[in-house]
Amino acid sequence: MLELRDIHAFYGPIEALKGVSLKLSEGQIVAVLGANGAGKTTLMNTISGLVRAKRGQIRFAGQAIERWRPERVVRAGISQVPAGRQIFPELTVAENLRMGAYVRRDREGIRADHRRVLDYFPRLRERLKQPAGTLSGGEQQMLAIARALMARPKLLLLDEPSLGLAPVLVRQLFEILERLHQEGAAMLLAEQNAHMALQLADYAYVLTLGTITLAGSARRLQANDQVRRLYLGMEAQPASRGGDHDNIDDNEHR
Ligand code: ATP
Repeated sequence: MLELRDIHAFYGPIEALKGVSLKLSEGQIVAVLGANGAGKTTLMNTISGLVRAKRGQIRFAGQAIERWRPERVVRAGISQVPAGRQIFPELTVAENLRMGAYVRRDREGIRADHRRVLDYFPRLRERLKQPAGTLSGGEQQMLAIARALMARPKLLLLDEPSLGLAPVLVRQLFEILERLHQEGAAMLLAEQNAHMALQLADYAYVLTLGTITLAGSARRLQANDQVRRLYLGMEAQPASRGGDHDNIDDNEHR
């Protein structure tokens, strides 16, 4: 469904992505793990057309999209939930949701999806007329996701959705993402919260200073010593058999 090949992206002289390749199949959740400054946001913005890759290819549903403008990327079925919940604070919750559907003309479908996202996020239903800027941080994050869903995307790009949320809200959020996954949604999920991300994802990549340094099925990465130490805050497994060799060379895409 989505394939990045050798993507290089720069901010002036800084090379933020140094030849990133990754794949995501229909219905999959693929996690991108990485520390601050690893390039996760740049990666998301390169896919959505906000950052132009200097080199490399991005294919989505059989088309080369690396030169497309953001609006065309949205129309093709990719919706981004940016880091930091960029909702429109002056607009009401209902208006924010309507903005999410701006590329659509099917009134009936929009109404149905409006009901559907409010089923997912009942708290938003109680606050439809409230200015979005007055929602709590967690509610704003829910709204950002609900708004992205209103475009009825084929692929959802989620940039650190758990950032700044209390643990109970993080759990709720991941339950909703799991439900969307079961309904067949595909997601690329950038997260520092490796614990939750690896529980949810089918496949994961570790991004280190603009380079993919590790890739594998989520289950496999959960057992990888380096991931356990650096991203899960756990000790290496005593019985592990050379997890450190479990690197990109073993990369078996599903
Ligand atoms: P975080 O988890 O902290 O958000 P990240 O993995 O999303 O980090 P990016 O935001 O993609 O990382 O940043 C990757 C690198 O590119 C960093 O070194 C950052 O300083 C640099 N960078 C990002 N945006 C810009 C910009 N607009 N101008 C210059 N450098 C930038």
